[in-house]
This record gives sequence, C-alpha cells and structure tokens, in this order.
Amino acid sequence: MEQNMVLTLESARERAEILRRELETHNYNYYVLDAPVISDAQYDKMMRELEQIEEKFPVLVTPYSPTQRVGGKPREGFVTVRLLSPMLSLSNAFDEGELRDFDRRVRQALAGENVEYVVELKIDGLAVSLYYEDGVFVRGSTRGDGETGEDISENLKTIRSVPLRLRRPVPRLEVRGEVFMSKKSFSMLNEAREEAGEPLFANPRNAAAGTLRQLDPRVTASRKLDLFAYGIGYSEGIDLPEHEAVLNLLREEGFKVNSEHKIFSTMDDLIQYCFRWQKERFNLSYAIDGLVMKVNSLPQQERLGATAKSPRWAIAYKFPPEQAVTRVKNIFVRVGRTGVLTPAAELEPVRLAGTTVSKATLHNEDYIKEKDIRVGDLVLVQKAGDIIPEIQAALPDKRTGAEKVWSMPAECPACGSKVVRAGGEAAARCTGMACPERLWEELIHFASRNAMDITGLGPAVIAQLLSAGLIGDPADLYALRYEDLAPLERLGPKSARNLLEAIEKSKSASLARLIFALGIRHVGERAAKILAGKYGSLDRLMSADPEELVDVPEVGPKIAGSIVDFFANSQNRMVIDKLVEAGVNTRAKRESQGGGLLDGKIFVITGTLEEFSRQQAQELVESLGGKVTSSVSRNTSYVVVGENPGSKYDKALALGITILNENDFKKIVDGN
Ligand code: NAD
Repeated sequence: MEQNMVLTLESARERAEILRRELETHNYNYYVLDAPVISDAQYDKMMRELEQIEEKFPVLVTPYSPTQRVGGKPREGFVTVRLLSPMLSLSNAFDEGELRDFDRRVRQALAGENVEYVVELKIDGLAVSLYYEDGVFVRGSTRGDGETGEDISENLKTIRSVPLRLRRPVPRLEVRGEVFMSKKSFSMLNEAREEAGEPLFANPRNAAAGTLRQLDPRVTASRKLDLFAYGIGYSEGIDLPEHEAVLNLLREEGFKVNSEHKIFSTMDDLIQYCFRWQKERFNLSYAIDGLVMKVNSLPQQERLGATAKSPRWAIAYKFPPEQAVTRVKNIFVRVGRTGVLTPAAELEPVRLAGTTVSKATLHNEDYIKEKDIRVGDLVLVQKAGDIIPEIQAALPDKRTGAEKVWSMPAECPACGSKVVRAGGEAAARCTGMACPERLWEELIHFASRNAMDITGLGPAVIAQLLSAGLIGDPADLYALRYEDLAPLERLGPKSARNLLEAIEKSKSASLARLIFALGIRHVGERAAKILAGKYGSLDRLMSADPEELVDVPEVGPKIAGSIVDFFANSQNRMVIDKLVEAGVNTRAKRESQGGGLLDGKIFVITGTLEEFSRQQAQELVESLGGKVTSSVSRNTSYVVVGENPGSKYDKALALGITILNENDFKKIVDGN
C-alpha cells in the first residue's frame, strides 16, 4: 500500500499488468482446475493491491481486469447455460475498519435510512444456481463467469439436500446456494488421494468444486456433498420484502438453510458476532472462511445495485489464517495402501485453529526440498481450509546449525523393497508385492472383477484373511483350505466352499487378466491385453528387454520402466514363482508360434466405439497380430460395429461376415 503512494502512472501501469497476469493464472488454477497453487490470503493480498492501484489511477482500469470480472471459464466437456440473473462475487473486508467503511457507504447511499443487516456464515464451498419450473427441478449450474455457468444438473441431483420438487410450487424460481463438503469427508478424500499418490485438494471449496464438476456423476455421488441455500436469483410469483423472508421461504420450500444467521441493526454487535465466529468456527462440521453481511431490505438492495463484479448491498468478512510457530522433531514416512511413501513431520505439539497439532503432512520429497524444511527447524504452521495442518514455511533465520537435511529412504521401511520414483512423478513408491502395508489394497485389486475375478473375495474377507495371518501375498490365496476359511466370521461353510471354487477357477484366467492383476504400476487393463498378446507368456514378458517394451503400442517409457522395476524385485519374482507352482495360467490361450492372438485375422471397424478411438482399436488388433483394413471384402474376418455405423455394416451383413459389437470385440482381444 505505501508502495502505491510513490507509484508514478507508468510504474503503476506496469505493476498492474504484472498483477493482472498473475491473478489470471491463479484464477485459472482455482476456478478451472480446482487446484490453486497459492493460499487464498496471498491471492486476496494481490487482488487488494491491484484494486488500490486501479482506484488511484482509474485510467488503468480495463474491462478484462480481474477486479472487474467474476470467476473463471467453463471447464471443457460441460454444456454451458445462461443464468436468468447474474451470479456475482462478493467484495471483501479483512478487518473491523473495512466492515465499518462498508456500513458507511451503504448508509450514505441510502441517505440516512434505517438499515438492518442479516449476517450469515460464509460457507467454504462453491456457488450453484438451481432452476425450478412449476416446482420441478429443471437444471443446475455453476457460477462460471457470472452470466454463463456449466450445466452440472446430473451431478447436483446426486446431492440429497437438493430438492427435486418444491413443497409449494411457484412458476419459476432460480435458487442460489453453496455446495460444500464436510470437514470429515474432505479429510477422508484427501487421505485417500494421498495414498493413491494423487494431488491433494487445497481446501474443501476446491474439493467440492472438483467433485461437482466431474463429467461422471457416479464419482460425484460417491463423495458426500451437501448444499445450503442462501438466496434467490430470479423468481416469478413471489414478492418478498426482506432477505430474511427469502431464507424462510427457501426453508419452507424444502431447502437446507443454515440456521446460524442473525439480524443486526448496530455495527458494534455485528462486529462482535463476526469475532465470535472467528474463534468458534472450528467447532463446525463444515469449513467457513468468513461471514457474509447483507442488507436485509430487498427494496434497499435494489436501490444499492451492483458493480460488474459484486453487489453493493453485501460484503464478505474474511477470517485471517491462523498460524503458529513450532519445531520439527522428526520426519518419518508412512507407506500407503498403494505403496506410496508419504513423508510427514512430527512436530512439537502446538495449539492451532481449535486443536493441538503434532503432525503435518509433507506430501512428497519435492515439497520438502522446495520449502527447505529440515529436521530440527522452527516452522510456521497453518491449517489448509482450517483442517489439514501444513507447514507454511521454515524459519531459516532461527537455525542453529544442528538441523538436518532429509531425503527419501532408498528402501521401504515396511518391507525393505527398493523405493522408486518414476520419471515425472512426485510420489515415491515401494515396489514390493508382499509389502505388508500394501497388501490389502493389492489383494482387492487382484481379486477384482476385471482382474482374477474371484467372486466372494471382497475387502472384508481379505481383511479377515490378513488379520488371521492366513495370507502374506496374493499367491497364498491358492494354498487356502476349507479348514482355514470355514471358521472365519461371517463366512460359513457354504460361502467358504464357494470361495474356494472361485479361487480355483481363477487359475485359468487369461494371461491379460493375470498381468493386470499383478498391479504393476501404470499397467491398466488395456496395456495388460496388449502385453499378453505381444508376449504370449508371463515368462517372456518378464525377460523382455526395456528397449523392446518401449516400442510396444501404448506402452512407452513410463510403463516400460515400471514393468522392468516390478520384475526386478526379488520379492515379486518369488510371488510369481508361487503363482506358477499353484497352477495359475501364465500363457495366452491361442498362442501360435512367436505370433499373437489375432494372427491372420482381418478386422474392419465402423461407427464410434465407446472405449477405444479408431487408432487405439487398430493398434490393439495389430499388437495381437491382426490387421485392420478400411473396406469389407470376403477376406474380412470381423466387422466391429460401434455407434452410428456406416455402409460397411450393410456390406458385412450382405457378405455374411461375423459382426462384433464393442463387447464382443473386447472379449476377442481378451482371448475369451
Ligand atoms: P468469495 O468466495 O470471496 O465470495 C463469494 C462467494 O461466497 C459466493 O459466490 C458464494 O459461493 C460464497 N458464499 C458462501 N456462503 C455464502 C452466503 N451465505 N451468502 C452468499 N455467498 C456465500 O468470492 P469468489 O469470487 O467466489 O472467490 C474469490 C475468492 O476465492 C478470493 O477472495 C480468494 O480467497 C479465492 N481465490 C483463491 C485463489 C487462489 O489461487 N488461492 C484464486 C482465485 C480465488
């Protein structure tokens, strides 16, 4: 701010441009990717600086400045919808003085009229608009750029607190509300992502946004989202005097409305209320990042109007982030169920945002290096989204020289296997198939439907087998006897027998399934099929040389490296030996000498396939020894027919060529 006092117009122009570009990048990360790289407080500070420059030099204001616009662009893949009335952002107040300034501006604009404010919690989620016609939910969207949002109707329908029908139908109603994720669901989601080596969500708002803007509503449904309604954008057939009446109406219509709102007519009481929540917010089961203060009278709201970005009748009071200083006693690693090694700091216990903190995640090795966090350092801690303790910065000035630089162990602390970090990945992983920390998840994968397909071997049974000490790796499944299984809780004689049968049957699963079941990092179902087709036996795959692997379609250096590492691990080789001894099939079924599963077969593909692009389907066929041609003749072995097939389909019918739908095609390339 003082900086601005000495700014000349020219240097202000330059600085404003730098800030705009940075803010644009951060907006993109936050609104489009749901993955901010700086904290909200840092963002708000930059925005504030830009606002102050533009206030001082109004000639510098441009219509495209982030101070003048709401939100971000729609994400690719979503249909956009026009909102019936604009969805705006809120201007911010960061302290008592700014709240009082806001009140002064409002009273001035209303020429001394009486003013009442409704104060609501500012839920840390994302704004949505829900549109109802004659009382029935028609569609819902994100805020987008304030005028057009992304159509997320299907995802919104998975949220239980979104009524699909209003209790008292009105002709048209556009409801505004906040979709959020509880602190508990947020922590669980991030824990799971951490274990899977996926990037973490920075706060519940980004997690809710990432969840709601999934192209697959099943993913949305699987993560628990909730909604608080707090306003009406557009309506027909409703005439209300006050914002409080709006909240009551929303509740009567069947929406969940946050009960912690209150009316104030004096600023002193209002400010005390804000300060109270600043302390008490930690007791809520969902995160709030401030409070919202709104003029209660709707006619007054209308007279106050709005700027292009925010209404003049409301303001958000944003809480400052809580921070504390403590010492890093140690850095240790935990092995997740997928083998990811995650470092964490053991801290000298310190009180922070409502709890005592003694641990903070350090995500990965790069994170520790970037922040130069050493064992013994004094550090500044803060909670991301008020929930997850994080080290904000090390305090190098306070070092004594006794601090130690940390690096990732070369061997897994749980099983001693080699730890690898595949090129480009932040996560380090244990490569051991028999690592006790990984085993549960690995077995679930091994038994899953698309892998060895062992019916009856679900997560709960696997957990029982592990805790009874009956298995130490996937190959031990084949040594299980009836006497081992029957006494297990919730299994019983009949299920035990069925399970043994399913295990026995899985011995003859295709080679592709076995390769997939081994859980080699990056080797998904499709790559497993290609590898099975190309190599014909597990033996040959195990001794494949890396240069040759890289050339296999869809494999490339990342997958090739991971395959080589996997088979180089002596523990894994031992498990594979045991699988072979148990009689598990390790050869492709119709293997002809040196060739593939589809040797001599000629395919023609017509129409759009769901799972494969043309190119992918063609590569798959070719990797299995077959050929793909573009026209149907008597020599064609199969015509694969997708959505909207062309004339090739008719020709195939006329010539009596075998026609495959996508499922049949998948079976054939799977060797079934
Ligand atoms: P905002 O979050 O400051 O305030 C507006 C939003 O508050 C509304 O759209 C609505 O979603 C929400 N809200 C919650 N409870 C509400 C209630 N009771 N009544 C009305 N609204 C309520 O504004 P914004 O435009 O959504 O986002 C801007 C903020 O996002 C910035 O101030 C910053 O903190 C953060 N941001 C951070 C980054 C980053 O890189 N870290 C980037 C962009 C934005």
